[in-house]
Amino acid sequence: MGDRSRRVLILGGTREARNLAEMMSSDSGFTAVSSLAGRVSEPVLPVGEVRIGGFGGVDGLRNWLGDNDIDVVIDATHPFAGVISAHAAAAAAALDLPVLHVRRPGWRKHREDRWIRVPDIAAAVDTAAGLGSRIFLTIGRQEVGAFADLTGSWFLIRAIDPPSAKLPPNHELLLARGPFAIEDEIRLLTERRIDVLVTKDSGGELTVAKLFAARACGIPVVMIDRPSLPAGARTAESVAAAWDWLRRLP
Ligand code: NAP
Repeated sequence: MGDRSRRVLILGGTREARNLAEMMSSDSGFTAVSSLAGRVSEPVLPVGEVRIGGFGGVDGLRNWLGDNDIDVVIDATHPFAGVISAHAAAAAAALDLPVLHVRRPGWRKHREDRWIRVPDIAAAVDTAAGLGSRIFLTIGRQEVGAFADLTGSWFLIRAIDPPSAKLPPNHELLLARGPFAIEDEIRLLTERRIDVLVTKDSGGELTVAKLFAARACGIPVVMIDRPSLPAGARTAESVAAAWDWLRRLP
């Protein structure tokens, strides 16, 4: 590797990924190339070099890593982006590159919370339908189509960009990007007379206010569990821990 700065692919789309790119942008001994999937029409861009779009599966990613002289892979994608995380692990292993998965901790349940944990979206549909007929979906735009057949329910659907999937017939679409304030979330739950909130266990501060609001209003929350990482994956829970790992690489 010589004296040149190490080239790090940061698989991004998260605040953690942007923070890491920023830390590498100063004279750190690392050069970041950030990668975004290209799902959001106006993404918040990291500093430094950015590429956008899929790689074409594990083989595409492996080729891209080789062609771009990448030394280290940091998977700082969203905890629910399970496919790209698995691809990152496989492609890095094929080239014998060090890889780290940055995973912020999930949210912690408070004793007054009324959470029902479910393993996936399909289970969330069944569970939410049994809890009430006015359902607030805060699961992003990609999977809301799973609720399309719940024709007897009314939905408040919040996403950054409009979903392209078929939506349930009775809904209001709210386009918004966090952070959200607790007072505003309480007002939303109250004014729309929400019976149940559906969320992924994303963790982090940016969108946690909805959980405080649900607690304050006594509203049940269907909490979708994260997909698991590949067996044996090396993880860091924070940007600081990821940075520490990078600095210690032999
Ligand atoms: P996913 O299901 O794990 O990945 C599906 C495919 O999208 C991958 O096979 C890959 O295509 C491409 N891809 C995903 N992330 C990529 C990245 N950072 N750079 C280049 N290609 C990427 O991913 P997802 O859940 O759709 O998430 C897509 C992006 O949105 C990620 O960057 C993630 O951090 C961000 N995000 C996701 C969520 C969520 O709830 N899932 C929430 C917030 C942000 P190829 O196979 O062609 O390489």
